[in-house]
Amino acid sequence: MSEAPRPLLALSRAELKERVLELGGRAFHAKIAREALFAGARSYTEMTSLPAALREALQAEVPLLSSELRHSTRAKDGATKLLLGFPGRDRGSDEVETVHIPPHNPKSPKGATLCVSTQVGCPVACPFCASGLAGLVRNLGPHEVIEQFLRGLEVGKIGRAVVMGIGEPLLNYKSVRAALEVVNEELGIGARKVTLSTVGFPERLREVAPTKPPFQLAISLHTPFDGERDVLVPAMKGVPIEEVLAAGDHWYRETHREVTYEYVLLGGYNDTARHAAELGRRLRGRRATVNLIPWNPLTKAPGDDPLPSYKRPHAEAVAAFQEDVQAAGTVTTVRWSRGLESDAACGQLRLHS
Ligand code: SF4
Repeated sequence: MSEAPRPLLALSRAELKERVLELGGRAFHAKIAREALFAGARSYTEMTSLPAALREALQAEVPLLSSELRHSTRAKDGATKLLLGFPGRDRGSDEVETVHIPPHNPKSPKGATLCVSTQVGCPVACPFCASGLAGLVRNLGPHEVIEQFLRGLEVGKIGRAVVMGIGEPLLNYKSVRAALEVVNEELGIGARKVTLSTVGFPERLREVAPTKPPFQLAISLHTPFDGERDVLVPAMKGVPIEEVLAAGDHWYRETHREVTYEYVLLGGYNDTARHAAELGRRLRGRRATVNLIPWNPLTKAPGDDPLPSYKRPHAEAVAAFQEDVQAAGTVTTVRWSRGLESDAACGQLRLHS
C-alpha cells in the first residue's frame, strides 16, 4: 500500500525544498509556498507567484493542510469553537477542537487567546472533563498543532495561546514543543504568551525544566488531598501531591517563572473551607499562583456514557474559596470560562461533534 502524501507542514524546510525540486520547481519556490500558507493562503491556486505546473504538482503530491474545518460554533460571548477533522484517517472520531477566545474588550490590541489541543482524546480521563471520557486515540503531530493556529487565525488575530484543549501536552511534548517553536518563528506569537497546562507528571517536568522552555506553565491540581486527586486525575493515581508541588518548585528554580496551579471547582465537592485551608497550607511559601475555574457542566457525554454528576459551584462559594486561599498567602484568581453555552469552555471540548 502506498503511503499517504505528507502535508506541507509535516515536511521540514529541507524536505519541502527537495520535494519541490523533484516536482520540477526551483528551491526558492518552497519558501514561497510555505510563507504563503502562513500568510493565509488556503490553496495552491492562490499562490500565483508559483508556476502553474508546480502548483498542480504540489496539489497532487503535497497537501497544503492535513486538517479540514468540519464545524464551527460561535457563543454569544464571541468564543468560537472549531471542530477540525483529519481526512484519510480510519477513524471517524479523528477530530480535535480549538477555541478562539476574543479579548473582553474588542478594541484591545492584544488579540484573542487560542486554546489548542495536543492529542485526539486524552489518556488522563478526569471524570469531570468531556475530553478524556473516551480515552486517548492518538498524539497529534507538530503540523496538526500548528494548523490549529492557522485555522484560529481565520477567525481573528491571535495574541496568546493556552495549550489546554484536548490532551495532555507532556505526553506529546516533543511535537508540542516543535509546533510552538514554529508558531513563534512564523506567526510571531511569543513563547511567553503561551501557557502549557499539564496534570504535572513530576518526572517529565524534571526532565523538561532544565531545557528552560520559554512558555508559562500551569499545573492542574484540583484538590489538595491525595486520595481525592487519585479520583479527579486518574492518570496520576498514587503520585503524591507533594511530589507534584516539588516538581513545580524545581521548575521555578530552573526557569525563574512562577507556576500557576489550576483548580477546577466542583460545587460541594472540592470547594469547601477544608479544601481551601489545605490548599493554602500546601502552597504557603511557594512561588506560585492559583487559578480557580468554576466547573463547566457537561450537557452530553460521548456515546451512552452517563453524565458526570458534579455541580457548578455557587458564586458565593467561589468567592469564599478565593478569599480563604488568598488569606493563607497565595495570589488567587478566578476564571469564569467563556463559550459556556456553545460547549467551548474548559473541560467541555468534544461534546457535540
Ligand atoms: S481535564 Fe485535561 S487532562 Fe483531564 S481529561 Fe480533560 S483534557 Fe485530559
